[in-house]
Amino acid sequence: LTEKLQNVFRNLRSKGRLTEDDVKTALREVKMALLEADVNFKVVKSFIKNVQERAVGQDVMNGLNPGQMVIKIVNEELVALMGSETTEIRLEPGKATTVIMMAGLQGAGKTTTTAKLAGKFKLKGKKPLLVACDVYRPAAIQQLQINGEKQGVDVFTMGDKHKPANIAKAALEHAAKNGNNIVILDTAGRLHIDEGMMEELREIKEAVTVHQTILVVDAMTGQDAVNVAKEFNDKIGIDGVIVTKLDGDTRGGAALSIKAVTGCPILYAGMGEKLSDLEQFYPDRMASRILGMGDILTLIEKAEADIDEDKAKEMSQKLRKAQFDFEDYLESMKQMRKMGGLGNILGMLPGIGGMMGKMGKTPDIDSDDAQRKMERMEAIIYSMTVKERRNPDILNPSRKHRIAKGAGVDISEVNKLCKQFEQMKKMMKQMPGMMGGKGGKKGKF
Ligand code: GDP
Ligand code: MG
Repeated sequence: LTEKLQNVFRNLRSKGRLTEDDVKTALREVKMALLEADVNFKVVKSFIKNVQERAVGQDVMNGLNPGQMVIKIVNEELVALMGSETTEIRLEPGKATTVIMMAGLQGAGKTTTTAKLAGKFKLKGKKPLLVACDVYRPAAIQQLQINGEKQGVDVFTMGDKHKPANIAKAALEHAAKNGNNIVILDTAGRLHIDEGMMEELREIKEAVTVHQTILVVDAMTGQDAVNVAKEFNDKIGIDGVIVTKLDGDTRGGAALSIKAVTGCPILYAGMGEKLSDLEQFYPDRMASRILGMGDILTLIEKAEADIDEDKAKEMSQKLRKAQFDFEDYLESMKQMRKMGGLGNILGMLPGIGGMMGKMGKTPDIDSDDAQRKMERMEAIIYSMTVKERRNPDILNPSRKHRIAKGAGVDISEVNKLCKQFEQMKKMMKQMPGMMGGKGGKKGKF
C-alpha cells in the first residue's frame, strides 16, 4: 500500500519546471492522439512545435504531474487554434434581411441543418424563410418542406424547373413581402467537388447578395472534410462552417484542422438527426474530445480550484522537516477527497491503460479497493487520541490494542499502518518538493 500511496502522491505533488524530456514524452502521446483523431498532419506538426516551445521551462502547477501540465498547455493551444470563443452567425444589423447560403457535398447535412438553424433563429424572434434551391432531387424539396413545417417556419419552393439563382432571386422578393428577415438557401450538393456545383453557387451569389456562406461538412469523413472546406473556401469563399454528425463515432479532428486550414470559424456542431440536435460549437469541449482525455480537464480544474495552497505549503514544510504525523495524514486524505475521492480522481483519468495512464504513471490499482483501504486507515487514525496522532512514536502495544478495538479492525492492521506510516515518512524525507514543496506559486496560471 505504501507504494500505491506513493504513486498517488506522486501524481499530486508539484515538480518544479517542465523539462524538455517531460514535454517530449507527453507530446509524443499527444501527437498520436491528434493523428488518430484525424487532425491534418501538417497542422499536427506545427502545433506540436508550438507547444514544445511554449511548454519547456514552464512551472508545473500544484496538483499536476508534468504529463498533466503538458496536457493543460496542449489543451489551451488547441482551444486557441479552433478560435478561442464561440462564434455566432453574423446577422445584418437592424431590420435588414440576412441571406445565408448553405453549401456542401451531397449528404453532408445541408437540408437538415438548414431546418435546424431555422429553429434557432425562430427562438431568437426572427422570421426565417427556407428556400429550396436543390432542384436535382424532388425528394430534397419535399424534405425541406417537411422539416420547415416541423419547425413552424416558412418554406419557399418553385419546383425543379428553375435555375437555383432565379429561385433565390424570387425568394428574396417573397421574403420582402412576407416579412422574413432571414433567408436560408438550401443548395444542391454533389458527391464530389465539381465545377458545376461551384458554378451554380457562384451564380446564386451573383444573382442575390449573400451575406453568409456557410459550409456544411460531415465530420465522419475526417480528412476529406478538411479538403472539402479548403476547396470551397478557395473557389467560392466561405464565412463559417457547420460540422455535422459529430454524434457519430468520430473524434472530430476534422473540426480542428478546418479552422487551421481555412481560417473560418466553426459555428455549430450537428449532434444528431433530430431537428433540435444542433449545438453551439465550443472549441474547449472539442479540444478535450480530440485529446480523448475523458474528463482530465475537469480534473485539472479541480486541482486548480480545490487544493488549498496554504495547506499544501504548510504540509510541505512539515514534510521537509519530517514532522509529518497522523493528523497531517488525515488532512492530506481530506484534500484528496475534496477532489472527488481517489476513485473519482482515477475515474476521471481516461483509463489506466490510456494516454494519461502512461504519461502520468497512474497507479495501476483497483481504485475501489484503494478507496476502501484508505477508509479503513482513516478509521484507525480516528480511533487514536490527538496526542497519539501527533506523536506516533508513543504507540505501544496496549495503545494499539485499544485503537484496533475502536476501529473494529485486527491489531495487525494497526501495526501495518504504523509500519507503512514510518516507511512513508522516510520516503517523504527523501522527497522534498512533495505536495507543493516547490509550489506555492502565486496565481497558479
Ligand atoms: P444534404 O444532402 O447535405 O442536404 O444532407 P441531408 O440534410 O439530407 O442529410 C443527410 C443525412 O444525414 C440525413 O439522413 C440526415 O438525417 C443525416 N444528418 C444530418 N445531420 C446529422 C447529424 O448531425 N447527425 C447525424 N447523426 N445525422 C445527421
Ligand atoms: Mg439536401
